[in-house]
Amino acid sequence: MSFLHRILDFLFPANCSFCRSPIGNSAVPCLCSQCWGDFSAVRGPVCPSCGRPFGSPEALSHSPEHECIACRKHPPHYDQALAAGLFEGPLREAIHVYKYRPVRSLGKPLATWMTDQVRLKAPLDMVMPVPLHTKRLRLRGFNQALLLAHGAAECFNIPLVYDNLVRVRYTRPQVELSGQERTANVQGAFHLVRPDAVGDKRVLLIDDVYTTGATMNECARVLKDAGAAAVIVLTLARTSE
Ligand SMILES: [Zn+2]
Ligand SMILES: [Zn+2]
Repeated sequence: MSFLHRILDFLFPANCSFCRSPIGNSAVPCLCSQCWGDFSAVRGPVCPSCGRPFGSPEALSHSPEHECIACRKHPPHYDQALAAGLFEGPLREAIHVYKYRPVRSLGKPLATWMTDQVRLKAPLDMVMPVPLHTKRLRLRGFNQALLLAHGAAECFNIPLVYDNLVRVRYTRPQVELSGQERTANVQGAFHLVRPDAVGDKRVLLIDDVYTTGATMNECARVLKDAGAAAVIVLTLARTSE
């Protein structure tokens, strides 16, 4: 957020964080109802594995299981990654405000929006958030993925497990790194406190944004190594590439 926007927010706190118009009687904090309604949901064909949107609307008409080049080259450890929206426009702003201002009260409505956009194909046994390292948790004050996972667990009626998958290594924020660096950065960063508890279980793993998928993929590797039957990743948003 620019310095000018910070001043505007301070002077006119009732303005939408994205379009700056008066927030009116919006049902959610920080965004007007128009911008909230303008979130870009993921539409059209996507890679059935990683959820990457395909350019052509016909991409999957002949072979619905056709995966993107990246997934064929390096099959991910998770079974499927679903994203509710594209990381752009007002959704991107909402995630930014939620995470960095931070505005925790956006967690619930964002989780509801996220779950409204996707359909789970098979029953799942537990919802897990991508964990934060305790050091980052202290800095940020909350785990943005945990609040989303909490909302998703309620909406889907699946038990939430937030204390099994933990981050054991403090890593640099992924946003500062390139694609290959991201994979190396998170290697060995996660650990299961009770690995037996995920054996033969189908896990829904939640995070806010899918960029390269390196973090979710590493979490999925740990879960699969412990015998998880399936790992489905769900994020609020993903980048379009
Ligand atoms: Zn607005
Ligand atoms: Zn893919």
